[in-house]
Amino acid sequence: MSARRDPSNAEIAAVLEELGDRYELDGAIGHRVNAYRNAADAVRSAPGSIAALVRAGTVTEIPGIGATLEEKLTDLLNTGEIPALTKLRAKIPAGLLELTRMRGLGAKRVRKLWDELGVDSPDALRAALADGSVAELKGFGASSAAKIQAILDAAAEQASQPQRTLLPRALEIGEALRDELRAHPSSHRVELAGSARRQAESVKDLDLIATADDAAALVAAFAASEFVAEVQSSGPNGAHASTHAGLDVDLRIVPPAQFGNLLQHFTGSKAHNVALRTAAQARGIRVSERGILFEETGELVRCDDEVAVYETLGLTWVPPELREDRGELRLQAGEVPTLIELADLRGDLHLHSTKSDGRGTIGEMALAAIQRGHEYLVITDHSASHGFGNHVTADELRRTIEEVRQINEQLDGFELLAGSEVNIGSTGELDYPDDLLAELDWVVASVHTAFGNDPTARIIAACEHPSVDLIGHPTGRMLPDRPAYDVDVPAIIAAASRTGTFLEINGSPRRRDLNEFHARAAKDAGVLLVIDSDAHGPETLDNQRWGIATARRAWLTADDVANTRSWEELRALRKGGR
Ligand SMILES: [Zn+2]
Ligand SMILES: [Zn+2]
Repeated sequence: MSARRDPSNAEIAAVLEELGDRYELDGAIGHRVNAYRNAADAVRSAPGSIAALVRAGTVTEIPGIGATLEEKLTDLLNTGEIPALTKLRAKIPAGLLELTRMRGLGAKRVRKLWDELGVDSPDALRAALADGSVAELKGFGASSAAKIQAILDAAAEQASQPQRTLLPRALEIGEALRDELRAHPSSHRVELAGSARRQAESVKDLDLIATADDAAALVAAFAASEFVAEVQSSGPNGAHASTHAGLDVDLRIVPPAQFGNLLQHFTGSKAHNVALRTAAQARGIRVSERGILFEETGELVRCDDEVAVYETLGLTWVPPELREDRGELRLQAGEVPTLIELADLRGDLHLHSTKSDGRGTIGEMALAAIQRGHEYLVITDHSASHGFGNHVTADELRRTIEEVRQINEQLDGFELLAGSEVNIGSTGELDYPDDLLAELDWVVASVHTAFGNDPTARIIAACEHPSVDLIGHPTGRMLPDRPAYDVDVPAIIAAASRTGTFLEINGSPRRRDLNEFHARAAKDAGVLLVIDSDAHGPETLDNQRWGIATARRAWLTADDVANTRSWEELRALRKGGR
């Protein structure tokens, strides 16, 4: 009866997140708080409508959603509110929520600032910092106050940036939506465009370009898709909608004869298209705001594919990942690099098992790698002092080496190897004695702690160690908002080049580290890169895909990446040809 629209998954997740945050501020125990946060994650990553599942009575099939949550979600759908949340809202000011969500502040400190100083918003905190009362508060002090000031400033800076979705999440929705439209009887061609097609690290919104016999029918199918939460506007040739994931999507249905023009134009980037327009002018061709080409005579140049667009302008077609105005429009035919593809990778050289913090046993990880067509896999569990709570002592590592050797005996045509992701200590020392490191087939060295303690010098020291083959996630950044630790990447690249150490492109979707700029600089310096999954379970071996995305954006070919080679070839390339 009600005219209320069902909430999207993004809206439901936000409510669950809010419940968790408010319970935490209210002093609830950790696992209760985590239950709401995990449920929020599950809702956010569910492809179809959670509201529809609640109505169908099947929402408890989603992992992390039990009967208690089902009841709350039913209330939310039927009445627009959850009684527990209404109570918490009356008790805890909204400004506290904003504070507790700032990276690095934490609910306990926020609660204390509220209890002791009445700080109930970012503005109130700013004032309490300015008049010195935070610094005077017991357990805080001047250095703590300075840190809090920095957190406030960083949060203000971040709030001014547009919301972006990380590529893996964006593609999960974009590719599924694209495939749905491709399967529709009236569509001919449907492609994702925009930064998703360029495989950028994050995406502001999705663009779909299509041709269709019956455009209105395709628009209607798009509006009815289970991914679409709300259609903001629609017309005979397209629609603008928001998805359950909170990501906006534009569908544009274009004339088949101009599909190439519009796909090229909406793939961008802006800088690439500006450079393209300049190149066009030199040939007397005008490019309109919507990517349509005109001869001097005013005649339209229609291109049904992208290659024709570039040819018309006297340019060479380049893969979407290169379209950032980083020299790609100067390439002549024959100079465009053959970019590396996922299928070029023959092994994975950085991943974890249940020996440290992974979810799969050594055998399960090997099996999953074999299923993915790999020829070799190195088990590289964390070392003795990684700081994640699951230490592998030297003796345990010796036993692991034995176990790996035994499992390897049973595997035909596949090489299972023993390695470690060794922590680089606060002065550059490695976790295990040299003789044990020398026993390993492969050593990844990574910084996980003491980021303020000259990571550059420590990583260079690791490069100089004769047993270290690879520097893992060299800058430590975490997408979207943890910046790299203060590391001099050119100095690391120089050390890697001098010592014959490989540098990693870590494919974990939040890392993609090295990034595309650094990876390209490493290639230019002659350093070989390694693309790893850093998997912590069998399914995340697929993370190599995101490393490939970064590598392609860095102009890398298969030759530039060490693990496109067989294990025999690769081991001979290691420092000293060990
Ligand atoms: Zn690591
Ligand atoms: Zn790792």
